[in-house]
Amino acid sequence: MKIWLDKKDCTGCSACYNICPKNAISMEEDECGFKYPKIDQEKCINCGLCKKTCPIVAKSIQIRYDKPIVYAGWSRDKETRYSSTSGGLFTELTKPIIETGGYVVGACYDEDNMVEHKIVNDLSELKKLSQSKYLQSNTKDIYIQTKKILDSGKVVVFCGAPCQIAGLYKFLKRKYDNLLTIEFICRGMNSPKAYKSWLSEIESNENKKVKKVWFKYKEYGWKKSPKCTRIDFDDNTYKIYNGDDNLYMTGYLGPNLYIRPSCGNCHFNGLSRQADITLADFWGINEELDDDKGTSLILLNSANGKKYFDKIKKQIFFQEKTLSEIYKGNVCFNNSVKINKNSYKFLKELDNSNFSNLIKKYSKVSFIKKIKFIIKKVIKKSNK
Ligand SMILES: Cc1cc2nc3c(=O)[nH]c(=O)nc-3n(C[C@H](O)[C@H](O)[C@H](O)COP(=O)(O)OP(=O)(O)OC[C@H]3O[C@@H](n4cnc5c(N)ncnc54)[C@H](O)[C@@H]3O)c2cc1C
Repeated sequence: MKIWLDKKDCTGCSACYNICPKNAISMEEDECGFKYPKIDQEKCINCGLCKKTCPIVAKSIQIRYDKPIVYAGWSRDKETRYSSTSGGLFTELTKPIIETGGYVVGACYDEDNMVEHKIVNDLSELKKLSQSKYLQSNTKDIYIQTKKILDSGKVVVFCGAPCQIAGLYKFLKRKYDNLLTIEFICRGMNSPKAYKSWLSEIESNENKKVKKVWFKYKEYGWKKSPKCTRIDFDDNTYKIYNGDDNLYMTGYLGPNLYIRPSCGNCHFNGLSRQADITLADFWGINEELDDDKGTSLILLNSANGKKYFDKIKKQIFFQEKTLSEIYKGNVCFNNSVKINKNSYKFLKELDNSNFSNLIKKYSKVSFIKKIKFIIKKVIKKSNK
């Protein structure tokens, strides 16, 4: 039994691992640090459930509005907005669920600063789910756990990348009225191996243990946040890695050096969204809605999404927008990233080299490219 033929067709969502009735599938890390299913042929009974549950092999498109309702907005609570990646919509949408006895599933850091999906049902734990973590989360048996709570009748909000939401629906097989799904526009999942290597180098340079990673830190404003990461250490000090000094985000956002191969051909972008609600940064938003504190892009893709959005209208500022306004600033809405041709080499070489040396080696912009870039900038300026 083989689930797929090419690694590019596996997002690592782990729906197959969750569904296997014989526990014949384990999720094993490859040499690049990404998890893929491995089938124990002795335990496998060839039932084919893994194939039927794979959201890529057995394609699934959820029935949604033809055209989502589009809003720009943010949380009216200053603290929530500042400490969230975009405008804090995730926290506003999920807080009332916890307050009324429901559960929220999302990505949080574990004790080694790696990322995993977790289920929470109190407000202090909810804080740990907020903020984008720019590496692939380990979903383990999260779909099994989510189903158990859904079957008990409690309300569950599940938040993840579009491929993880697709995996959840394939695993559940049926509609649950007590489920709300939230996804984000995703430019690609980074290898946990690359992230681990970057953190290890920081720990060894600083001679301290990392306690918390805060990606997209808004110290210098929301628009500069993608390359601004705050690292907290175990001696209660912190350091901000910003701009080109932020090697990890530089290698992610520019040369796409350690993104999962399947993200180069994402099956879940475009208008047929997977979740009830899609959240993102509203890059390119008009000036009057940009105070540089974080403006969320909100897509309501279904009646269920609209129902939950209507409940939080008092807690947020929002304004209706059109689909055409989102395309320019958010290219990943419709397109997959182009993965660096040296990505495999980079991740393999991490076994014997440190992160910063490899970033220097593989993210070098050629002299000609640099000149082209400068000329383009000059032309743009002179046309203004
Ligand atoms: C890997 C990644 C790539 C992204 N790419 C884009 C992009 O190209 N364009 C764009 O506009 N927005 C992108 N986003 C989305 C954006 O960063 C915000 O997550 C989104 O706008 C929600 O912000 P918020 O302020 O409402 O909530 P936040 O408080 O920031 O909540 C974020 C939510 O995402 C979940 N989450 C965080 N990290 C992960 C992870 N690694 N895996 C699965 N779930 C996770 C959290 O559990 C939480 O539920 C990306 C996010 C991630 C994690």
